[in-house]
Amino acid sequence: MEKMVEFRKLGLSDKTLAALEKKGFEKPSPIQALTIPALLNGEKDVIGQAQTGTGKTAAFSLPILEKMDENKRGVKAIVLAPTRELAIQVAEEINSLKGERRLSVLPVYGGQAMDQQIRALRRGVDIVVGTPGRVQDHIRRKTLAIDNLDFFILDEADEMLNMGFVEDIETILAATNDDKKMLFFSATMPNEILKVAKKYMGEFDVMRVKATELTTKNTEQIYFEVRDGDKFEALCRVVDVEVDFYGIVFCRTKNDVDGVVSKLIERGYEAEGIHGDISQAQRERTLRKFKTKNINILVATDVAARGIDVNDLTHVINYSIPQEAEAYVHRIGRTGRAGKKGVAITFVTPREMGKLSRIKRVANAEIRKSTIPEIEEVLK
Ligand code: ADP
Ligand code: MG
Repeated sequence: MEKMVEFRKLGLSDKTLAALEKKGFEKPSPIQALTIPALLNGEKDVIGQAQTGTGKTAAFSLPILEKMDENKRGVKAIVLAPTRELAIQVAEEINSLKGERRLSVLPVYGGQAMDQQIRALRRGVDIVVGTPGRVQDHIRRKTLAIDNLDFFILDEADEMLNMGFVEDIETILAATNDDKKMLFFSATMPNEILKVAKKYMGEFDVMRVKATELTTKNTEQIYFEVRDGDKFEALCRVVDVEVDFYGIVFCRTKNDVDGVVSKLIERGYEAEGIHGDISQAQRERTLRKFKTKNINILVATDVAARGIDVNDLTHVINYSIPQEAEAYVHRIGRTGRAGKKGVAITFVTPREMGKLSRIKRVANAEIRKSTIPEIEEVLK
C-alpha cells in the first residue's frame, strides 16, 4: 500500500485506500488534493473548480463516503447532475469508490420506469444521484425525502446553470434541511455559480485548479489555418497520420455532424455521430461503441458530448472553433487525461482569427500554429 501514501496523507482511511487501489488510482489529482482534506476536516461549504477529466467526482465522493454514517437511515447525500448519462456515470464512480461500505447509491433520471425507481427508493438508499426533473418528481410524489441530508452536491454546476436548471435547483433545495454541507463542482466558474453560492451556501471556500496548469501539461494545443472547403481533407490527413487515432471531432451544428459522419463513412473510416436530434438509445449505443473502440472517431456537438468520460483520447479536433473559451476548455479537457499525452487541434478559418485570440486570452491557453500534415507524411 506504500504507493498510496499521497492519498493517505489527505486523511483517507484504509477502507478508502483499498477501494482506490482496486480502481488503480495511484495518486490524487490536483483538485482531489485540494478538496479532500478541506472536506474531511473543515466546516465550510466548498466550490471546486477544475477542468473536465481531472477527477472531480472522486474529489467530492471520497470525503462524503468517508464522513457517512452507515448506520444512519435515509438519504444522506444527493448529487444533482445535468444529464442522465452523467447521473449514471457519477453513480457508477461512487459505487466503485465506496469499497466495503454498506452504502447504496441510486441514479434517478427521466426516461427510466418510475415504479422501478420508487421500489429502489423504498428499499432504502443512502446516496441519490439524479437529474433535476426526476428528483423533483419524486419529491412531489413523496417517494423521496431529502430533509435529513448530510451533503448536497451540485455536479457540473456550470452546465446545470447553462441548461437553465436554476429554478429546479432552488425548488429542490427548498425540500432540504438547513444543516447540510453544500458542495458545488464545476469545470468553469461563471458568475452565476457564485451568485447561487452566496444565496444558499454558508461560509464557503472556492478551490480552483487553473485550466492552464492542466491543459498545457498533457495536451498539446495547436491550430491550423484552413478554409471551410478544406476542413474535411485536413481532418482525413490528421486521422491518417496517427496510427492509433482515437478522437472526438466537435462540430457546431447537427447538420455539420451528419455531413462529416457521412463523408467519413464514404471514405471508409469508422465514425458515428451524436447530437440532440438522435434518440437517447442510439446515442448510448454509439457511445458504447466508441468507449469500447469499435469505432475510433466520434463526431459530436458540444451539447451531446457534455461531460462524457472517455479516457485515452489521442485527439480532440475542433472542426468548428467553439464560440466561447469555456467550451474550448471543456472540449480539450477530454484528451491528455491521466498522464497520457493528447493533441487538441482547432481548425480556424481566416475570418475566425479574432475568435482564436479571444479564446487564447480568456482560457489563458497556449495554442501554437501548425500545418496540416502533408500527403507524403500520410503515406509513410
Ligand atoms: P471530471 O468530473 O473532473 O470531468 P471524472 O471524475 O469524471 O472527471 O474523472 C475522469 C476520469 O479520471 C475517470 O475515469 C476517473 O475514474 C479517473 N480518475 C479520477 N481520479 C483519478 C486519480 N486520482 N488517478 C487516476 N484516475 C483518476
Ligand atoms: Mg464531472
